[in-house]
Amino acid sequence: MTDAAGLLSRTRALLAAHPPATTDRTDFLKARFDAGLAWVHYPAGLGGVGAPRSLQAVVDAELTAAGAPDNDPRRIGIGLGMAAPTILRYGTDEQKRRFLRPLWVGEEVWCQLFSEPGAGSDLAALATRAVRAEDGGWIVDGQKVWTSSAHLARWAILIARTDPGLPKHLGITYFLCDMTDPGVEVRPLRQITGEAEFNEVFLTGVRIPDAHRLGGIGEGWKVARTTLMNERVSIGGARLPREGGMIGPVARTWRERPEARTHDLHQRLLTLWVEAEVARLTGERLRQQLVAGEPGPEGAGMKLAFARLNQEISGLEVELLGDEGLLYADWTLRRPELVDFTGRDAGFRYLRSKGNSIEGGTSEVLLNIVAERVLGLPVEPRNDKDVAWKDLAR
Ligand SMILES: Cc1cc2nc3c(=O)[nH]c(=O)nc-3n(C[C@H](O)[C@H](O)[C@H](O)COP(=O)(O)OP(=O)(O)OC[C@H]3O[C@@H](n4cnc5c(N)ncnc54)[C@H](O)[C@@H]3O)c2cc1C
Repeated sequence: MTDAAGLLSRTRALLAAHPPATTDRTDFLKARFDAGLAWVHYPAGLGGVGAPRSLQAVVDAELTAAGAPDNDPRRIGIGLGMAAPTILRYGTDEQKRRFLRPLWVGEEVWCQLFSEPGAGSDLAALATRAVRAEDGGWIVDGQKVWTSSAHLARWAILIARTDPGLPKHLGITYFLCDMTDPGVEVRPLRQITGEAEFNEVFLTGVRIPDAHRLGGIGEGWKVARTTLMNERVSIGGARLPREGGMIGPVARTWRERPEARTHDLHQRLLTLWVEAEVARLTGERLRQQLVAGEPGPEGAGMKLAFARLNQEISGLEVELLGDEGLLYADWTLRRPELVDFTGRDAGFRYLRSKGNSIEGGTSEVLLNIVAERVLGLPVEPRNDKDVAWKDLAR
């Protein structure tokens, strides 16, 4: 039942029992999850059937052809790409049952409370504190920043310091934080595009039950690494058709604007087209190697390539469009139904792509990861590894 033929017959049975034309969207998505056709590589009972990840395409094609709704993956990208694989890997059975279904269906949006004003690339230096409450739960105080979608989120993946007396990587614990807690305050941050896609988040006396701790006390860094490795794959490794992603619009502009063509622009377009295609096919191969929950550091390479290509391709498109290139008037990303930015004007995409080499780990930091964990080069000197976090100069 977990080969292509088995999945196809399972998909047809789902469509027969819940015809998309007459079934409520959310009901259809719940039925799809329960049929194990949400993410086929997840275990049975959790939206999958333990099939090879590559067979998801068989299910998706059949559902698309039948006009079935999707779960709006761009809107819930942080949940799908980062929270879910981490919960799958480290969650208790109860946590998996409670969180994965509403996450996949899109009823509950997730955000990521990792970065802080003093802890971005050096994330393990974070200062948000979680202390044990009398009832066995936790009380969290601190400030997070650059939190995409916090204004839409029902839940957050959160890392906080539980033992300042230990070296920085050891005293961190990972939590699932209820964004409706009265101690959570979300303030929008306006970015270079003019929009406020992300936020600063102030946590004041936020209560988290111990049942919402993910992984062991003090094991938060290990758990967070799973999230970060999945984040890179999720940012840089989207499944795309040929000429999908940023290269599509620039190729269209090239075809529609013969008057803008020059020899130099032609050369650049061809080079970028080939590089985008190589990145797309490499991503496809990488995705096929992934097992649920735990991608390797190769995702860092994909994310590096994605950031550079997006910036170069969108820059070329702005040049091709000349004076109109940077004009755009649609600053609506904060509206919940418009969190996607790939279909926006060239000028918007050009400015937004500047963030691609920062979000999910800067390109410089990812180069370090590729050097150390893929190529096996010597590690950067670190003099703070064995010092208690409270004694570090900050
Ligand atoms: C669009 C966008 C969305 C984001 N969404 C989220 C989110 O939802 N949740 C969240 O938690 N965070 C989010 N972030 C934050 C992001 O993860 C951080 O901005 C990023 O990790 C860099 O941290 P920093 O901004 O503190 O920069 P810093 O760490 O201060 O880096 C400054 C500069 O120093 C360089 N640098 C730092 N260390 C090294 C090193 N060891 N070797 C070489 N160079 C180095 C960096 O590459 C960079 O150029 C988002 C950021 C952006 C731009």
